[in-house]
Amino acid sequence: MHETLALSNLLRIENLPLRSLAIQAAGGDLEKLEILYDIITDDGRTWSHAQLLAVAPVLHGISVNHGLPLYEAGFTSALTQALAAVVRCPPGSLENFAVLPREIFRVIAGTLQFPSHFRSSVEETLREGLLQLLFEYSASAGPKRVEDIMHILKDSLPRATIYRPALLQLVPALASVQSVDHAAVLGSSELLACWHSFCTLAHGRLELLEEIESGMRVMKRSCDNVQCNKILEKRLLQRCSGCLATYYCSGACQRADWKQGEHRRRCSRLKSQREHDAMDGNSRDWAFIRALMNKRYAEQRENIALRYLRMLYNARGARATFTGAWPVPVVKFDLSKEPGEIKLTIEAPMTADMAATFPDEIRRVRRSEGRLRMHVLMMVCPRLANPGDNISCARFVPLRCENARFEQGIREILAGIKPRVGNEVLDVERYRPTVRALMGELGVETH
Ligand SMILES: [Zn+2]
Ligand SMILES: [Zn+2]
Repeated sequence: MHETLALSNLLRIENLPLRSLAIQAAGGDLEKLEILYDIITDDGRTWSHAQLLAVAPVLHGISVNHGLPLYEAGFTSALTQALAAVVRCPPGSLENFAVLPREIFRVIAGTLQFPSHFRSSVEETLREGLLQLLFEYSASAGPKRVEDIMHILKDSLPRATIYRPALLQLVPALASVQSVDHAAVLGSSELLACWHSFCTLAHGRLELLEEIESGMRVMKRSCDNVQCNKILEKRLLQRCSGCLATYYCSGACQRADWKQGEHRRRCSRLKSQREHDAMDGNSRDWAFIRALMNKRYAEQRENIALRYLRMLYNARGARATFTGAWPVPVVKFDLSKEPGEIKLTIEAPMTADMAATFPDEIRRVRRSEGRLRMHVLMMVCPRLANPGDNISCARFVPLRCENARFEQGIREILAGIKPRVGNEVLDVERYRPTVRALMGELGVETH
C-alpha cells in the first residue's frame, strides 16, 4: 500500500529529468522518494527532523550532480522553507544536519545564479525570508557556513538583483531585517563588511529602479537610420510597429531605413528575437538592465575611452587595412564579480569570423563610416535545453550610441602622437584631460 502510494506520487512529478534523477538519487528507497515528492509539491509545511534527515542523501545526490532540474521544478522556495526548519532546530540536534544545510544553500545559490530562468523562485525565496535565514544561519556558526553566506552575498544575490521582480522582492526582505543587530548576528567582520557592501549595491539599484519607474530618468536614444543618427528623448521617437525594436525621428527616416538600411529584411528577424527575449526576461527587465549598465558605463566611460585610445594606438600598424570605420568596441559587463564591480573588456579589431557572429545592426554600424558608434552589452544567455551551448545565444544589448565627435576626438589625439621607435606602449594618462573634455561633450545615454 505504502509502496503503491509512493510510486503513484512519483509518477505525478511532471518534470521528467527530475523524476529520473529522484529515482536514481534515492537509490530505490521509496520512503525517501515520498519525502522528496512532498518537498517538491507541498508548500507551507514544517519539516520534521526525521524527514529532513531521510531526504538529505537524496538531495545531495541531485544537487551535486544535476542541480538544474531542481531549479526548473521550482524547488528553491520549498528548500528555503526546509532550510528554515533546519536552522531553527534546537541547538543540540544540529549535528544531525551537518551536511543538509550546506546542500540546501548550494541549491539556493545555484538558483540565484541563473535568475533569468528561475526568476520566480528567486522572488519566492526572497519572500520566504532568505535574508532573515542568512542571519539565523550565520548565528549558528561554523566556518563552512560563513563560506556559504559569503558566496550568497558576494555572488548569487548581486546577480539576482539585476532583475526587476527580484529587486522588488528585496524591498520587503531588506525591511524585515532592518531591526536586526547585524554586527551581533554576523559576528565575523569579513561577513559584516560583505553584508554592508551588498546592502549598498542593493540600495543603489533600488534607487535607480525608482528613478526609472517615476520617469525621472530621461531616456534618450538615437534614430535608427544611421545616415541620420539624431539623438532625441525616446518618447519623441516613433517605433517601428513591426519589430517594436527600432526607433526613428521621422517617417522619412523610417522609409529610408526600410529601403537603404534594409530594415525591410531585418524587421521580422528582430521581431522573433524580441519574442525569444520575452521568454526569459520581459522588456521592463531589459530596460532596467540597460539603465543599470549605462549607469556603470557613465562612471567608467573615461576609463573606457582611455583603453580604447590605447587599443587604437596599438593597432596603428594595421591601420592601413581600415576602410574608414573604426572597429566597434564590445563592452562586456560581468555581473558575477564583487558587488557593484563590473569587469569591462573592449574587444577589437575583429576577425572576419568574429564579425560574422555579430548581428546585422552592428555590422551595419561598422559600415557607416563611424557616423554612429554603438557600444554593446554582451550577455550570455544559457539555453535550458542545452545548458552548455552558451555562445550561440549570446545576446547583444545596445548600451549607448555616440556620434562622430567621439571618434574624431580620438583621431585627433592619435594624430598628435609622434610615431615612436620600438614597442613603446602609449602612456594614456597623458591624454586624460583631453579625453575627459571630449567625454564631457558626449553627455548622451541611451536606454
Ligand atoms: Zn521593424
Ligand atoms: Zn532620423
